[in-house]
Amino acid sequence: MTFHATILTLYPEMFPGPLGVSLAGRAQEEGKWALDAVQIRDFAIDKHRTVDDTPAGGGAGMVLRVDVLAAAVDHARQGNPDSPVLAMTPRGRPLTQARVRELAAGPGVIVLCGRFEGFDERIFDARKVEEVSVGDIVLSGGEPAAIMLLDACIRLLPGVMGAPSSGSEESFENGLLEYPHYTRPQEWDGRTIPEVLRSGDHAKIAAWRKSQSEIDTRSRRPDLWERHEGVRVPSASGAQRKKKDMDQ
Ligand code: SAH
Repeated sequence: MTFHATILTLYPEMFPGPLGVSLAGRAQEEGKWALDAVQIRDFAIDKHRTVDDTPAGGGAGMVLRVDVLAAAVDHARQGNPDSPVLAMTPRGRPLTQARVRELAAGPGVIVLCGRFEGFDERIFDARKVEEVSVGDIVLSGGEPAAIMLLDACIRLLPGVMGAPSSGSEESFENGLLEYPHYTRPQEWDGRTIPEVLRSGDHAKIAAWRKSQSEIDTRSRRPDLWERHEGVRVPSASGAQRKKKDMDQ
């Protein structure tokens, strides 16, 4: 089955971009995924092909028009009828590996890339569009965010990655950051590889990796650690916390 990505953008020439090389590029050549980069401006309705207008209420910048966006989404849905429609926006739900997995298991995605100040808010409800953020940062456009999302999906498609285990051992797959890696030379600049990794004792190595993964997650990403602990040891306070999360 081919994973079908339809990208709605003012800059179709940005695609496939980095997705045309390496793992994703090869997978595209092999027909494991297909790309359709669609020019939003083709759905403008006036003779100047306007796609944006000034913000209601005043203020800086321009806003993408809802009528133009709706026409572009409707067109994309005709060609890719079963795929969810996502809009890249810093106001969206932060993208997670779990969501990426769900998307990669489906028929594909339709992705709306914003520019300027972003989208007229009415598009999201009117066309059942899922708002997605790739982090608490502000990009100049949705295209790099769409490339990130696609890259994450494509590497999970069947037959794209070499070793099947390399997908399931990565950071976030079990709610934790991955353990650190080392390779030869064994000593470099006075720094050595942790002794245990040279022991050949697979059980000991596995235990060390698990513990490093926990230590690093705890210190670097207390948010992930707390969630992980909540799932692992559902304590009374954890249950309360979950309930609070659900109420929000
Ligand atoms: N005015 C907006 C930012 C617009 S940035 C705000 O303050 O929320 C222009 C476009 O870049 C957005 O419409 C979106 O498509 C994209 N973009 C910027 N940051 C992003 C992020 N963190 N995640 C996903 N898309 C982003």
